[in-house]
Amino acid sequence: MCDWIQREFHCGHFRWIVSRWCPDYLRTQLRCPLSVTHYEFRGDEQCSHCKPRQTQPWEKFIRQHTNLNQTVGP
Ligand SMILES: [Zn+2]
Ligand SMILES: [Zn+2]
Repeated sequence: MCDWIQREFHCGHFRWIVSRWCPDYLRTQLRCPLSVTHYEFRGDEQCSHCKPRQTQPWEKFIRQHTNLNQTVGP
């Protein structure tokens, strides 16, 4: 089984980060059941989803483009 780290953030969300792929995975590329071997608490960090980020100009363009597609849909 692969080793996973469960990381808890200040916002209360969790992320699972693999710390070691087992030989089975490396051979078959099939994910094993999640087995958490290590827990971390990042009390001073938000997860990537909650973290306020700087909006890049190209991201704004993509969002506008996506909205346009939605209004055109059925
Ligand atoms: Zn594995
Ligand atoms: Zn979060």
